[in-house]
Amino acid sequence: MSDIIQLLPDAVANQIAAGEVVQRPASVVKELVENALDAGATKITINIKNAGKTLIHIIDNGCGMSETDARMAFERHATSKIRQATDLFNIKTMGFRGEALASIAAIAHVELKSKLHHTEMGTQIIISASQVELQESILCDNGTQFLIKDLFYNIPARRKFLKKDTTEFKHIMDEIQRIAIVHTDICFELIHNNQQIYSLPISNSQLRLKNIFGKNISKELVPIFSDSPLIKITGFIGKPESAKKRSGQQFFFVNGRFMRHPYFFRTVMNTYSDILGADAYPSFFIKLEVDPDSIDINIHPTKTEIKFENEFALAQIIGATVKEAIGKYNFTSSIDFQNEDLPMGGAVPVNADIQMPSIRVNPDYNPFAPTSNSNYNPQNFEKKQNPQTENWANLMQSFENQEPEQQEILKRTSEIDKDAKVMQLSLKYIVTPTERGLIVIHQRRAHHRILYEQYLNNFQEHKATAQQLVFPIEKTVSEDYALMLAEVKAELEILGFIFNIDGQNLMINALPVDVKESQAIETIDSIVQNFEQFNTSIEFERQKYVSKMLSYRASVGYRSLEIQEMQQIARALFLTTEPGYCPRGKRIFTMLALSEFENRLKI
Ligand code: ADP
Ligand code: MG
Repeated sequence: MSDIIQLLPDAVANQIAAGEVVQRPASVVKELVENALDAGATKITINIKNAGKTLIHIIDNGCGMSETDARMAFERHATSKIRQATDLFNIKTMGFRGEALASIAAIAHVELKSKLHHTEMGTQIIISASQVELQESILCDNGTQFLIKDLFYNIPARRKFLKKDTTEFKHIMDEIQRIAIVHTDICFELIHNNQQIYSLPISNSQLRLKNIFGKNISKELVPIFSDSPLIKITGFIGKPESAKKRSGQQFFFVNGRFMRHPYFFRTVMNTYSDILGADAYPSFFIKLEVDPDSIDINIHPTKTEIKFENEFALAQIIGATVKEAIGKYNFTSSIDFQNEDLPMGGAVPVNADIQMPSIRVNPDYNPFAPTSNSNYNPQNFEKKQNPQTENWANLMQSFENQEPEQQEILKRTSEIDKDAKVMQLSLKYIVTPTERGLIVIHQRRAHHRILYEQYLNNFQEHKATAQQLVFPIEKTVSEDYALMLAEVKAELEILGFIFNIDGQNLMINALPVDVKESQAIETIDSIVQNFEQFNTSIEFERQKYVSKMLSYRASVGYRSLEIQEMQQIARALFLTTEPGYCPRGKRIFTMLALSEFENRLKI
């Protein structure tokens, strides 16, 4: 039998490669704009017709190409960006695989005009389906222009699968956003069907975001920053109250390149999960800088999936940095994002040296820990005061060298501690004066936050705070109900919910200290009803969920509070990790500044 293996002709090989690199018009835009970046352009114009199906025209003022390079550029594996395998571990350019132009030229009519800055004449090349149709010297501007016409004209099946223009154009906008958000030192213009969509002058990061997403975004974001030998983090994250109903404005960049990173994504979402309700998506624009040596960009043709060394450590730093920024924002309404003088990159202007968040729940502090079955007993307060003052002093000391914001928090809370002037408003708010004005605290949300963190803490410390019932509570439940309850039994027990299920008989023997007997059944019902949400295999997520539900049920309602209760809520609130938001994402307190009163009472 004769040999049957043959090498594929280049045009066919390129078409096959194109399947990986070019999925849609947006992929062409991405590749060509990245090439312009690599060519050192400071202005890139992207002119699109019919969502890129008929025309993609990209003009840059970068270095341009010589006649030979212009021709070479269309060869597969032709690149000026790496020369040897070791270069792969130190990539500083957007491209390096040398396959984009070869792929694009295999599936469209391509016209290239390019000129080096010091030569008089430029080069024009026309290629269709990998065949050079024309190459000649021409007069043209410095830099490079690509015209890509009739994408997939020779692969009808691919063309047919393109989505409607609005969808395809949305993909193009996404690609431009991913590039323009980080490359703030480059001017971009995007035109679609003769209409200008973006005009992005050179600017700093926050202005660039404003120019892309509209002026409202500046009110929705806070800057983040941290710098350590492993990683530098800059960018912006959304304030919890501006979270969106849909995911979308969520961007990670590494060394100037947009990336998808499900693990870091989850890390950020988990950081917010304590302060956002379900179905709310925070925006974020997080830029990571790491040693190019420590990442592998080469694992995917479009280079958006990137592998990191030390992923776990990096995720921890990212989570802590996000948490820190949210915490800071709670206490410094003065971070003025609108201020256009912030340094490029949007770093936090003062005290940039951020460490891991150091405000933690005081594990020994349980403002409502009763010694009897009653929900709250003011008499206990006196007895408990001494050890708490001691804790307080310790805490004070550990904070002494902290940042101004943290000292500010400390000052506020210590004022509450010392002066203890509190009053209740409308059975709903706790009002307490400080040197600078009034703090108004939503009592229910504050208590929800305090209990939530206590419960989570109970999980960590395996510390049940159960109160034994004199008469067990009994209920007949459905089979499903019993099954679901069995699933959560372990978690509920840690929190002090102790029960037996025998067939369809539920018998509750003990309750968490904060849950009243009368609430026992409805609390368990609500956990079972929302079982779907809880049904995750991630243990910590389950714990968070149960803690959230239980603490919500157990938190004080709108009722009259004793002075001591109010003092304890106020103090305990400011010892939690997120005093600003309740676990359902609502704001807990607000401040009325003295200056505000003075202003109002001027005349
Ligand atoms: P890669 O970007 O991976 O090197 P491409 O196929 O995208 O591969 O481009 C091939 C080569 O063509 C690049 O390495 C570069 O030398 C040259 N090139 C492409 N676009 C431009 C441009 N806009 N300006 C200057 N040179 C370019
Ligand atoms: Mg390229």
